[in-house]
Amino acid sequence: MTDLYRLLPEEMEQLVIDMGYPRYRADQILLPLYYKFPKQLDDIPQLPKKLREELTAAGYTIGSAKETHRIVSDDGDTTKLLLELSNDNAVETVLMQYDPAKIGGHPRSTICVSTQIGCAMGCVFCATGQMGFETNLKAEHIISQVIHFAEILEKRGEHVTNLVFMGMGEPMANYDEMIRAVKILTHDRGFGLGQRHITISTIGIRSGIERLAEENLQIGLAISLHASNNELRKKLVPTASPTSVEDIIELGRSYFKKTGRRVTFEYALMAGINDSPEIATELARLLKGNGSHVNLIPINPTAGDFKRPSEKSVLEFERILFDAGINCTIRIEKGTEISAACGQLRTDLISKN
Ligand code: SAH
Ligand code: SF4
Repeated sequence: MTDLYRLLPEEMEQLVIDMGYPRYRADQILLPLYYKFPKQLDDIPQLPKKLREELTAAGYTIGSAKETHRIVSDDGDTTKLLLELSNDNAVETVLMQYDPAKIGGHPRSTICVSTQIGCAMGCVFCATGQMGFETNLKAEHIISQVIHFAEILEKRGEHVTNLVFMGMGEPMANYDEMIRAVKILTHDRGFGLGQRHITISTIGIRSGIERLAEENLQIGLAISLHASNNELRKKLVPTASPTSVEDIIELGRSYFKKTGRRVTFEYALMAGINDSPEIATELARLLKGNGSHVNLIPINPTAGDFKRPSEKSVLEFERILFDAGINCTIRIEKGTEISAACGQLRTDLISKN
C-alpha cells in the first residue's frame, strides 16, 4: 500500500507516465489532494475511471486522519486534536490562531505537527519525552495532520499560514520522513506553503542541523537550549551529552551563515531550576554577539515536579538578556488550560483510560 500523499509531484508524474498516461494526469491528482481533500480515489471524478482502478489495483490509497478528541481553549484561539492516523497511531496536532486585533500583524493559523510517537530524547520536563520512543511517523502521516486542519480551516474560509515542527517527537531523529513532508508541503504543485513559513524545532542533533543547512531551503530553525551550561543541560536533556551548549551555539551560527535564516534558541523556564539571574547572566555571556534570538517559554507543568516561574522572575530573566543586547521574546501563552505542550493530551487521555 502506498499513500498518494507520500509522493513528491515529480514522483506522481513518473507514476502516471509509467502507467502509460500523459504527464498532466499527475496534476489531476495533485490539485484535488491539496485543495479538495478527497478521502478515496473515487472522490476525484475528473480522473479517468480506468486510471483510478489501476491505481487501486497497484495498491495506491489516499490516507486521512480521524479526529478522536478535540479540545478548544477558552479564547477559541487554540485547538488541540488527537488524530488517529492511517497507521492507527494516535497523534497530537495543534492549531494556534493569532488574532491581529489582539497582537497586531497579519492573522495567522499555525499548525504544530508531531513527527514521532513518543521521543527517545527523554527531556525530564516534557510529557512526550517521559513516554519514551514508540515509532517514527511517515511523511504521509505528518502531511495528513496538516491536511486535516487545512480542511477544517477551508470550511471557515481560512487557510494554513504557518507550520511548526514542535509537536510530539524529535524531527531530526526522523530526518528523511520529516524532510520529505517539508518538500511536499512547500512544493508549488504540492501544498504550496512558503518555506519561510515553516520552523523546525530540534533538541540540537548535529547531523540533522547540518543536513538541513545543505538542503538549500529557507526553513526556520529553532534549537531547544534550556540551559546555560553543560552540567545543567545534562540534567534537563539527559541524552544531550554528545552536543555541548558551545556546539549548539556554533551549529546555530553555521546554519545562519549557510541559509541566511536567523536561528531561535528556545528556553523552557522552570522555577528554581534554570531561571535564576546568575543563569540568565551565564546564558547572556554564551549568546552575546552572535545575533541570535531567544524565545523564553515559561513551562507548562507536566512531567515531574517542574513549576512555572513567577511572572517577576520571567521578566527579570528577559531583562538580563535584553540588557546584554540579546534579542528576546516570551512565548505568548497559548492553550495552557488545554495542556497544549507537546505530548500532554495524549498522556492525559491514556492515563485516564
Ligand atoms: N523535539 C523538538 C521539538 C518538539 S518539542 C524539541 O525539543 O525542540 C517543542 C518545544 O516544546 C520545545 O522547545 C520543548 O522544549 C517544548 N516543551 C516541551 N515540554 C514542555 C512543557 N512542559 N512546557 C513548555 N514547553 C515544553
Ligand atoms: Fe523529545 Fe523535544 Fe520532548 Fe525533548 S522536548 S523529549 S526532544 S519532544
